[in-house]
Amino acid sequence: MTVMVPSRTPAQITPGRQALDSALHQLAQAAEHLGLDEGMHAMLATPRRSLTVSVPVRREDGRMDVVQGYRVQHNITRGPAKGGIRFHPATDIHEVTALAMWMTWKCALVGIPYGGAKGGVAVDPATLTTRELERLTRRYVNEILPLIGPEKDIPAPDVGTDEQTMAWIMDTYSVNAGYSVPGVVTGKPTTLGGSLGRAGATSRGVQIVALAALGRSPEGTTVAVQGFGKVGSLAAQFLADAGCKVVAVSDATGAVYRAAGLDVAGLRAWTAESGGVRGYRHADALSHEELLELDVDVLVPAALEGVITAGNAARIRARLIVEGANGPTTPEADEILAAQGATVVPDILANAGGVIVSYLEWVQNTQAYSWSAGEVELKLRDLMESAYGEVRTLAAERGLTLRQAAHVIGVGRVAEAHRMRGLYP
Ligand code: GLU
Repeated sequence: MTVMVPSRTPAQITPGRQALDSALHQLAQAAEHLGLDEGMHAMLATPRRSLTVSVPVRREDGRMDVVQGYRVQHNITRGPAKGGIRFHPATDIHEVTALAMWMTWKCALVGIPYGGAKGGVAVDPATLTTRELERLTRRYVNEILPLIGPEKDIPAPDVGTDEQTMAWIMDTYSVNAGYSVPGVVTGKPTTLGGSLGRAGATSRGVQIVALAALGRSPEGTTVAVQGFGKVGSLAAQFLADAGCKVVAVSDATGAVYRAAGLDVAGLRAWTAESGGVRGYRHADALSHEELLELDVDVLVPAALEGVITAGNAARIRARLIVEGANGPTTPEADEILAAQGATVVPDILANAGGVIVSYLEWVQNTQAYSWSAGEVELKLRDLMESAYGEVRTLAAERGLTLRQAAHVIGVGRVAEAHRMRGLYP
C-alpha cells in the first residue's frame, strides 16, 4: 500500500484537511530520515480505527438536531489510545485524524505508554444550553462506547470541552458498566478522581519548555499569547509569574496590547466576567494579525491550527515560538521561520504537559491513590525537561529543526514498537 495524499484543489481543502496534510508531511519527513520502508510508513500514515457517528440532540424547544461526531484511534501499539475530545463547529474527520496522529507522536516522545486518539463533535458549544450540552455529550459517548475504556482508549478535554464534560463522560460510561470507572477519562474534577495540577498542566508545560528554550533569565522577556483560553491564559500567567513581560494576548473577541506589560491576573478576571479580552480598559486594542506579527521575544500560539502560514510567516518577528496549540504552524511557514532563524518549540513537545498529567491521573485512578500537587508538578517537570533535552540534542547533532527532531524521536519509537511486536498473523 502507498500513502495517499489527495491533490490540493483549493476549493476542497478544509482547515481539517490542511491539518492532516501538515501531519502527513511531518510524518513523511521523519519516515525518510529514519529510513522507514513504505509499508511501515503507510501503517503510520493511516489510523487503526476511525468511527463517524451521528448524534441526535433534543433541543430545549423540543426539536431534534443531528450533529456529526468522530473518534479516531491513530495508533495503539505502545498502549491504550489517548487523546482529547473537541467540540468545535469546524471539526471534521480529517482534523480529528491529524490530531490523533499528533497524540501518537506526543505520547511516544515524552515516554508515556499510550497510543494516540482524538474525538470531535462538529458543534459550537456556546450555542447550546447546559442541559443540551449534557444530552449531546452523553449521547456522543454512547455512540463511541464500544471504542473507549480505561484499557482501550481514554478521552480528555480539548478545545470546547472541560471538567464538566469529562464528569458526564465518566458518569455515562460508569452507568453503562454498572460501577464507577474513573480511569475511563482524564481531566475530571478532583472530586471524581481528577488529578491535582491537571487543569493547568498544558500551560505549566508550555512555561517549562519556553523557559528552557529561552536559555537566559526570563526577566523582561516580552511575550505575546494568541488564544486566551484554557491553555493560553494560564500559560500567560505562569510566564508572567516567572518574570516575563506579557505584552499582548488575543482571543476570539479581539486582542489587547500594553508595552509595559499586561496585568495577566486582572485580564483573566476581566475575561471571566465579560466573556473575552475585548473592551479591557487597561490596554490598547490590536488586530489579530498585529498580535502575531508583534516585535516580541516569544510568541505562544495557543488556539487552533493553521494560524502561522506562508501568508504571514515572513512577518513574524518573534525569535522563539512555543506552540501551546496543536498544529498552529503549517509546513510552509516552518520553512520560512527556520530560514529567518526563528526557533519553533513544536506542539508535540510544547503542549505535552496536558497528556503527561492525564497519564499521572490515570495511574492514580488505576491504583486508587492520589499524589500531592507538588509530586505531580515534579513528575511533569521531569518528563518535559528530559523530552526537551532529547529533542534539542538530536536537533543539534543532525542539523534538524526541533519539530523534525521531535518527530524523528516520536515516530521512531512507534516504528520500533511495531517492529518488536511483529505483524499478526
Ligand atoms: N487535548 C490535549 C492534547 O491535545 C490533552 C489530551 C489528553 O490529556 O489525553 O494534548
